[in-house]
Amino acid sequence: MHDHQEQLLKTIRLHIPDLWSARTHSSSFKNTRTGYLRTRTTMLSVVWGILIILWTPFDLIFLTDHQGASIAIARIVLAIYLFSLARFNNQLSTLKQVQWYMSLMVCGLNLFYLYAISVLEFPVVYTGFEYGYTLLPILHVAILTILPVTLKESFYLLVITATTQLFVHYHSGHIFTPESISDYWLQNALALMVIWSQLSKLYMLMRLYRQATLDPLTGVYNRRMLLQLAQKSLIKCEARNAPFSVLFFDIDKFKRINDTWGHGVGDKVLRGFTDFVQTKIRKTDLFGRYGGEEFVLFLPHCNQEMALSIAERMQRYIRHLELPMNLDQNTLKITTCIGISTYSSGDTLSSLIERADRALYECKDSGRDCYRFHPVGYKYQGNERRKAYA
Ligand code: GH3
Ligand code: MG
Ligand code: MG
Repeated sequence: MHDHQEQLLKTIRLHIPDLWSARTHSSSFKNTRTGYLRTRTTMLSVVWGILIILWTPFDLIFLTDHQGASIAIARIVLAIYLFSLARFNNQLSTLKQVQWYMSLMVCGLNLFYLYAISVLEFPVVYTGFEYGYTLLPILHVAILTILPVTLKESFYLLVITATTQLFVHYHSGHIFTPESISDYWLQNALALMVIWSQLSKLYMLMRLYRQATLDPLTGVYNRRMLLQLAQKSLIKCEARNAPFSVLFFDIDKFKRINDTWGHGVGDKVLRGFTDFVQTKIRKTDLFGRYGGEEFVLFLPHCNQEMALSIAERMQRYIRHLELPMNLDQNTLKITTCIGISTYSSGDTLSSLIERADRALYECKDSGRDCYRFHPVGYKYQGNERRKAYA
């Protein structure tokens, strides 16, 4: 397989822990999935709330007066509960909160089932109208198919329904009768299908998400994602009056590497470089490919002084970095130029990047392998030259 294709597959390949829990998910993917889960749980709560109320007349017609009235009241309480969940499940909900909403929704549905069965006095054999109630746990399992949840989240939700069902069977005294065994079999088979469907949704979401947001060669954020995340981070820093800095990297004489050893080696150098930088940054820093051999590192909560010392340290590390060239032990060294800018009031993300970019060209004019800082209003005279050779 072509090296490039192989790298692309490696970038988007998913592993078991990715499907097991959200612990290994990137914070941006967590946010995206939280949004998905939030809308779907909200819609599910509203639709279920409406359906549950629509059934009320049938309870009143087909059940005894006492049973019909009790269950009808329980239906209204459940519907209000579901509508309240939908109301509170808003834009600001975090993944943890949405996980709680999902559990509370499933608990609510199961409590209603438990209550309805107890009103019907835990019948051993369901016949006629009451038969409909035995189908509730199956529905509670089936509706979970629409949620792109992890395996762990899925287990939690399914266990709530399974426990309720076991409790009901235990109370009605037919925990291991032929009817209950066939019930379990049906529900477990259904649960398996539900898990399958949920995981395929999660898998597809994650794969497409990675394809859309990561650079296929290096696996770091692509320009679109990088700028989107940086914009959010900048807004947060602005609101808290915290500093925000930008480091714009450009590999020196990179074209020469391609011309001398070929593009394959050039690609390897880019990957080695990005892998290394990623090991040296904080979790809150945002690093991505801006284009070609140009990379940007956004540093929230870093002032000018900190940004300069980070640039100095990075450059020193990179200078000593031995990048593998091919299968034998040959390695290659690179140097970089780093343009730096720090947020001042009135700055936007583009104005920050533009200043860092201008500082980068000052580095190139100064002989490369160095870093420069451009404050607001600084007029770099060498810009005309840059235009001339661009
Ligand atoms: P300078 O020190 O002035 O930055 O010189 P340079 O050669 O690094 O700069 P220039 O912008 O002229 O060349 C950048 C080169 O990067 C040109 C292009 O072929 C190469 N390049 C861009 N993207 C890739 C890539 O994905 N893989 C490889 N192998 N090369 C790439
Ligand atoms: Mg360049
Ligand atoms: Mg370059």
